[in-house]
Amino acid sequence: MADAAHRYKVGDIEVTVLTDGFRMVPVDDKYLRNASASDLAAQLKAAGLPTDAMKNTYSPIVLTTGGKRVLFDTGNGEAAVAQSKGERGTLNQNLAAAGIDRGSIDVVVISHFHADHVNGLLLADAKPAFPNAEIKVPANEWKFWMDDGEMSRATPGRMTELFQNNRRVFDALGRKVTVYSWDQEVVPGVTSVGTPGHSIGHTSFMVASGGKRVFVQSDVCNNAFVFAPKPDWQGFFDQDPPQAAATRRKVYDMLVAEKLPVQAFHFPFPALARIEKAGEGYRAVPISSL
Ligand SMILES: [Zn+2]
Repeated sequence: MADAAHRYKVGDIEVTVLTDGFRMVPVDDKYLRNASASDLAAQLKAAGLPTDAMKNTYSPIVLTTGGKRVLFDTGNGEAAVAQSKGERGTLNQNLAAAGIDRGSIDVVVISHFHADHVNGLLLADAKPAFPNAEIKVPANEWKFWMDDGEMSRATPGRMTELFQNNRRVFDALGRKVTVYSWDQEVVPGVTSVGTPGHSIGHTSFMVASGGKRVFVQSDVCNNAFVFAPKPDWQGFFDQDPPQAAATRRKVYDMLVAEKLPVQAFHFPFPALARIEKAGEGYRAVPISSL
């Protein structure tokens, strides 16, 4: 468990990066909507990676700011530990290994309502995983997923399953959440930034303290070796694929122009990087501190 936690500072704010494990994702024609499995395999090969499957990792973070402990996104949830034979859903054990009691989390901030971000709100027995925390969720995301009309019009498959999963999770919490808007200080030193496309209300965060900044991108770019060099590729997991691609370019141009480091939920642990221009896309260069 040497990799259970990685700490760095943004001014006075302490960031603890944790891991919720991983999932092996097959390289097939379902992964991208506008490129083939062989295009994808060629890109992975160029990055020196295996071409049969990709390792998708999950890295929630805890910020200590303004005297509060704030968890950003919750991973796949404890129930996933048994289902995946220990591959994922390991956030709670890694929090404990890092000396962070679940009961001491004051606020949980959710970036968007996909299962790998919200399922960790519940324990395996559907009790709240963070019993003393205020749960903050993006207003647009909440409105969409809790709307019965939207649910009735959802495309069968991934979208209906997401609606059902979100109802399961938030109903277990009695729908007791605080909604936040974009361009709002959600906790001291952290401002919400609208980055829609991956989902309707998908949200990133600017963390700023003492003249230092880091951009918490959530899922603006999923696999660093695929969507940074090929930002216009559209993943199956994006709700509005063209908008997701446009958001990715807009955010990454901003990160390059402002030399702003990025904390990325799905990048390899500890999921902190600098973004550089490279060819027609970008390159994510791993770093360990600001
Ligand atoms: Zn995700």
